[in-house]
Parts: sequence; structure tokens; C-alpha cells
Amino acid sequence: MGRHEEAVAKHGFRFKHSLGQNFIFDEALLDRLAEAAGVTAQDDVLEIGPGSGTLTARLAARAHRVLALELDRSLIPVLQDALAGRGNVTLVQGDATRADLCGLAAQAFGEGRPFLVVANLPYYVTTPVLTRLLTEGLPVARIAVMVQREVGEKLMAQPGDAAYCLLSVLCAWHAKAREALAVPAAYFIPQPKVDSSFMVLDMRERPPVPEADAGLTMRVARAAFAMRRKTMLNNLQPAFGLTREQAQACLEAAGIEPAARGETLSVQAFAAIAQALAQIKKI
Ligand code: SAM
Repeated sequence: MGRHEEAVAKHGFRFKHSLGQNFIFDEALLDRLAEAAGVTAQDDVLEIGPGSGTLTARLAARAHRVLALELDRSLIPVLQDALAGRGNVTLVQGDATRADLCGLAAQAFGEGRPFLVVANLPYYVTTPVLTRLLTEGLPVARIAVMVQREVGEKLMAQPGDAAYCLLSVLCAWHAKAREALAVPAAYFIPQPKVDSSFMVLDMRERPPVPEADAGLTMRVARAAFAMRRKTMLNNLQPAFGLTREQAQACLEAAGIEPAARGETLSVQAFAAIAQALAQIKKI
């Protein structure tokens, strides 16, 4: 039994399905995850959901500093035990969907200092946490995250792919995503029903259309995917209170076929529609 499993046993920890607790103890896999995250001695790392600290220990060995944010209070003594002697780790109990990530990172790493995020995220918080990390303007340089395989496909999906959705557009706007490792369900304890992907999202320094309004572009994308099978012409009207003629003029100005469906449009196309919308109507 390794140090982390011992700490889990010693503190009488019970896995909580409700908190998405599927831990990784496989030493070789943990090394590959830390390697794929690309953490160097200059990097500060925010780890979300450290669990029993198996990955945290690997990250701490490579990084400058690690801030580990864990929701489950009963894991704090386990983590303190398993990570004893790791002077560059700060443990914080809190909820990654609500915590002041900017303030916590500023306190741990210094105001505005870029950091990496590494997480074996519980599946039920993947989208809200990724949305926060992508859109809140935090100084995040890279996100290395374990997600359900289907979510990995969404993060990489291109226009026209079956998996292409609002999360794909959001991700493409802010980052370049790739699958670093495919991780079968058997690597997790307890074993979940689905396989996972360890995804690396390198944040863009500039969005693909820097002059476009990011918020409005995402509102256009949200409208496009609200009714996937409808045309852009039909989806734009209710979402922005446009007449049919205004919606048509907007799509023409953006160079988009009015009969096109959102699921076929690129981020650049959504940005062009947003720019035309801003001209046609003060929003
Ligand atoms: N990193 C560990 C590993 O790889 O073995 C644990 C991964 S487990 C899939 C997810 C972890 O996230 C659990 O420790 C769980 O308690 C924690 N967690 C769940 N919801 C959370 C939240 N909203 N904020 C922070 N941590 C959370």
C-alpha cells in the first residue's frame, strides 16, 4: 500500500459518489499525467479536487508552488498526512464552482501571476468549472484536465462534427485543445462506468477574432445551439428580438447563408454575426 492509500485507510475515508470521487493510485499513470501537464520548476499550479493527493505529490515535485482546492472536508486530514513535508503545497477547502479563484491564486502565487490548472475533475462540475476557467479572465496559461471521453470530444470538435456544441465554441475561442492521454475506466478507484480523456488546453494569448465582442459572440453561439436543427435565420430572431428582415440583413452582412445551421458554423462565423448584429441593433 502506498502513502496515499495508507492515509485514506488511516483516516477511515469513505468514497462519495455524489462528489465524483474516483481516485487514481496507478504510479505510472500519475507520472504520465504530470508529464503531459507540462509542469516545470517555474510554474505555479492550481489543482482542483486533489482527492488523496496522489497527483498533487507529483505536481509538487515538479512545480514551483501548488495550490490544491478540495471540497470534501474529510479529505483535508488525509491530504495533510499524505503531503506532509511538501513545503510548496497550500491546501484550501472550498468549492471550485463558487470559490474566489482569482483571490485564492493571487494570495498563493502573487497578484496577476500566470498559473497552470491541473485537475482530475468530477464529471458533474466539468462544464461549470471549465467555463469559469475559460471566461473569467484569470491569468491561466494552460488547463490540463481529466474529463469524460465525450466531453473531450466536445472540446476538440470542429464545425459539422456530431460533438460540436457551445462548449466547443467556448473552448475554441479561448484555447487550443488536444487529447494528451486516453484513460480507460479501469484506472480509477472506484471504477466509473465511462472512459476518460486527459485534455490539455493551451490558452490563446489572443482570441481568433480579437476585434469581436467575446460576450456577444458567445450569445450568438448560444442562440445557434438553442435549437440545433433550426436555421440561423430562425434562431437569431427570438434570441435578439430581431425582425426576419433584420436577421436576414445581419447574416448577409456577415457573409453567412441564412439557411445555415449553427452546428456548421465556425467561431469566426459567430464573431462575424456578432459584429453585424452590433451594427444593425444597439445591444
Ligand atoms: N485528484 C484525485 C485523483 O486523481 O485521485 C481525485 C480526483 S476525483 C475524480 C475528484 C475530486 O474532486 C474529489 O476529491 C472530490 O472530493 C473533489 N471535488 C468534487 N467537487 C468539487 C468541487 N466543486 N470543488 C473542488 N473539489 C471538488
